[in-house]
Amino acid sequence: MRAEVREFIRQDQAEFGWQAHVDSWIASWDPAFSRRLGDQGWLGLTIPKKFGGHGRSHLDRYVVTEELLAAGAPVAAHWVADRQVGPALTKYGNRYQCERYLPAISRGECYFAIGMSEPESGSDLANVQTRGVQVDGGWEVSGTKVWTSGAHHAHAFFVLARTEPLDTTKRHRGLSQFVIELDAPGIEIRPIRLLTGQHHFNEVVLDRVFVGDDMVLGHPGQGWAQVTSELGFERSGPERLLSTTPLIDELANEMRRRPNAHDSTAELGALISRLSTLRQLSASIAGCLSVGEPADLAAAVVKDLGTQYEASVVEVAATTFDDALPDISSDKDFPRLLAEGILHTPGFTLRGGTSEILRGVVARGMGLR
Ligand SMILES: Cc1cc2nc3c(=O)[nH]c(=O)nc-3n(C[C@H](O)[C@H](O)[C@H](O)COP(=O)(O)OP(=O)(O)OC[C@H]3O[C@@H](n4cnc5c(N)ncnc54)[C@H](O)[C@@H]3O)c2cc1C
Repeated sequence: MRAEVREFIRQDQAEFGWQAHVDSWIASWDPAFSRRLGDQGWLGLTIPKKFGGHGRSHLDRYVVTEELLAAGAPVAAHWVADRQVGPALTKYGNRYQCERYLPAISRGECYFAIGMSEPESGSDLANVQTRGVQVDGGWEVSGTKVWTSGAHHAHAFFVLARTEPLDTTKRHRGLSQFVIELDAPGIEIRPIRLLTGQHHFNEVVLDRVFVGDDMVLGHPGQGWAQVTSELGFERSGPERLLSTTPLIDELANEMRRRPNAHDSTAELGALISRLSTLRQLSASIAGCLSVGEPADLAAAVVKDLGTQYEASVVEVAATTFDDALPDISSDKDFPRLLAEGILHTPGFTLRGGTSEILRGVVARGMGLR
């Protein structure tokens, strides 16, 4: 399968001329590429066949995602839907939701965003201020989400909201998740730009958005348990260590082009050996997910180590050649990818849970707190 995916990527890039990017799962939104992957049968791999998926294992999905990330392919459009929305709907979704979204996700035609973070609630997710109030036939949802990746392109998003009064002794209770389409009346999407200038995130304001009862995800009040299991998928994948792989490739190419201009071969070798250990850790989590074992703790370890590694790649690339300056608009790959790496680095250890929070998860799992 790996060889087949690699060959597809090679041919697709030659035919359609897309550029490899650092962080392509965040920054390279290309619905046509997503549809071509869907045509190959490489999206919705873990979604059951009865809902248009392929009923394959998380390890199969791991192979496909690893190859795509290593190539810096334009995978952002389908990324969230394929990574976590598909598995979450398969686990918690009602029949209507599964039939409405899962076949289209598997075809690479339906894209999702995640509405967890808020201006006053990032690490402390249980503090969400967005409210869902029960009305005739459904709920009215109001609040402000922030850092919502891809909301300006996506069809729908998962929204975490408080639906019962806050009990300060049990803050994780009384939260619910809703599936909300992003063109619903009452939604305003305001752009937030990345350091590169690219419009990637958004602030999404929900003003009394009506959500039918059939668009509650899982059970009202069970939002915390559902979100936590979703984070296992969000934190464990190869995108937490491979985001800067196109830059490593170009660093190696640049070294080959001017063999006397550097003495960093040992640093490159050290990066590759770290990567090989991290891959084994990350792939073993895909193995856990395949047999339904909880992976939250192991995923926190991999994300913390993996994102530190991604930043080290940028550091080595930035210090190898005295005369290779980063340049985001260069037509040469090395300066362009180096600039992307530098400008994306601050996000590596923030998105999907900060390093401090992940270390807290690990400490709790080890019984240290
Ligand atoms: C590229 C990118 C994409 C993102 N996409 C999305 C998205 O699509 N949807 C979404 O919902 N969110 C998204 N986020 C938001 C991300 O999940 C949050 O930035 C993250 O959870 C941290 O929350 P915060 O920014 O509010 O920081 P805060 O929670 O305010 O943290 C600020 C600092 O304080 C530290 N800190 C906080 N609490 C503790 C503690 N208890 N112990 C020790 N240190 C602590 C943190 O580690 C951090 O260094 C994205 C972020 C980035 C960078």
